[in-house]
Amino acid sequence: MDINLMGIEKVAATCMQCDLSKTRTHPVFARGNLKSPLMIVGMVPGPDEDIAGTPFVGRAGQLLDKILYTVDIKEVYITNLVKCWLKPGLPLKDEWVEACLPYILSQIVLMRPRIILTLGLDASRTLLSLPAETKMFTIRGEIYSYGENIKIVPTYHPSYLVRGGGDQSAKYPTALKDFGLAKNLSQ
Ligand code: URA
Repeated sequence: MDINLMGIEKVAATCMQCDLSKTRTHPVFARGNLKSPLMIVGMVPGPDEDIAGTPFVGRAGQLLDKILYTVDIKEVYITNLVKCWLKPGLPLKDEWVEACLPYILSQIVLMRPRIILTLGLDASRTLLSLPAETKMFTIRGEIYSYGENIKIVPTYHPSYLVRGGGDQSAKYPTALKDFGLAKNLSQ
C-alpha cells in the first residue's frame, strides 16, 4: 500500500481516538510546503484553527507569521502535536498526546524534514522524550539529534510570546534567534 501524507490526513479527518474528537469542527492537520526541509510543530489548535481547519491562524499564528517573515523563512510545513482543538490555557492530557502521536510520527517519517522546530514544552518534551520537569529555558536554542538525519531545535511557543506582549515580549529576540538557527541548519 502506498502511504502518503494525504492518506494520513484522510485518516485524521475521521479520527475518534480521543475525547477531543467529540467537540471538534475540523481536525487541524497541517499547512505549508510538504517538501520543505523545515517542519514546525506547535502544541494544539485553538478555536480559530478549529473553524478554519488550518493551524496557526489566530493571534499566535499571526505572531508566528511575523517571525517567519522577519527571519525570512518562506518554505515551511506547519503542524501541531495534537490535531483537535483545545480551549486556550488548558493543559494537554497525556492520553490526548498519546492518541495523536501516530499522526505526528507519521508526518515526520513521510516528510523527512532536515530540521524540526518545536514550539513550546509539549511538542519539545514529547518528540525528545524529555522528563516532565524540563524547563523551556534549559532546552531552547539547543540542537538535538532525532534519529540519524533530523535535528530538533526547541523554542518558545508563539502563544507564550503573545501573553508576554507579542513582538515586545522579553523573549521575542531569543525566539527570533532560534528561528534563525533553524533556518540556517535547514539550508
Ligand atoms: N494554534 C495552533 O495551531 N497551534 C498552537 O499550538 C497554538 C495555536
